[in-house]
Amino acid sequence: MATIIDGKALAAKIRQEIANEVNSVAAAAGRRPGLAVIQVGADPASSVYVRNKKKACEEAGIVSFGYDLPEDASQEQLLELIEALNQDERVDGILCQLPLPDHMDEFTVLNAIRPEKDVDGFHPVNVGLLSTGHKSLVSCTPAGVLEMLKAYNIEIKGKRCVIIGRSNIVGKPVAQLMLREHATVTIAHSRTVDLPKICRDADILIAAVGRAEMVTADYIKPGATVIDVGINRNEQGKLVGDVRFEEASQIAGAITPVPGGVGPMTIAMLLKNTVQAYRQARGIL
Ligand code: NDP
Repeated sequence: MATIIDGKALAAKIRQEIANEVNSVAAAAGRRPGLAVIQVGADPASSVYVRNKKKACEEAGIVSFGYDLPEDASQEQLLELIEALNQDERVDGILCQLPLPDHMDEFTVLNAIRPEKDVDGFHPVNVGLLSTGHKSLVSCTPAGVLEMLKAYNIEIKGKRCVIIGRSNIVGKPVAQLMLREHATVTIAHSRTVDLPKICRDADILIAAVGRAEMVTADYIKPGATVIDVGINRNEQGKLVGDVRFEEASQIAGAITPVPGGVGPMTIAMLLKNTVQAYRQARGIL
């Protein structure tokens, strides 16, 4: 039976550390870190994410500023709000909850956030800094994956890492991080031929697909570490990952559950990025 990588417990520990850090840094600097969270429209899943993020901020002593725009708000309105927040000295981080309504262009909107306040790590400047190996705000889910591997002392250097998924928010940045940590990285996607065979080569298999329980035992090398980023509902409406946990955990060496794996780490990394942005803005190293 595999070691279960407990993202929930690890995230709670990190959040406590961040709260302690915020207390001491804010007392010295005379101002708490601030995170602006923008939601356009009222998508129920987005509302849950936004609520959780604001709650996590409050618990860590970070001030959260909520901005709700109606579904039919114009892109110009959103860009004006972002520009105001770019200039607002109380705001260290700006997060625009995705997905945006169809009439808005995600790239234009994310590009409008000042890179120094881009706590989601989606701005092309931060993406470029990551891919050229420089310090940057790293997107939260990939950062959470790396944090978990490190916390569980899972060797990355020289290991073969296969990532299923090439999205801008998970697959590609997680690949960059693993490369930075000296793994030998393969990125698979929907056009990859013979996916199970490629995955069976992996010492570290990261699934970021969005297909309920697609990854079966047949994809996993005995003893491999399996990180399941997916959040899906199966046919019974139950929350499941991309990996068929029951059978995968019989063959893997270590594995993340869903829920309670990568998900909680993502929020912890958002708080961490906000504090990083705050420190940088105030020149506190
Ligand atoms: P996207 O839909 O943007 O990307 C999915 C990727 O999976 C694409 O690259 C796609 O390939 C690939 N893919 C789809 N079907 C297959 C297949 N049959 N075989 C191989 N590859 C396939 O999703 P995201 O990256 O945004 O999210 C992935 C999952 O992670 C989702 O379940 C999402 O909910 C979850 N997630 C979880 C987070 C967390 O905090 N835990 C945070 C963010 C996301 P192609 O490019 O060829 O289309």
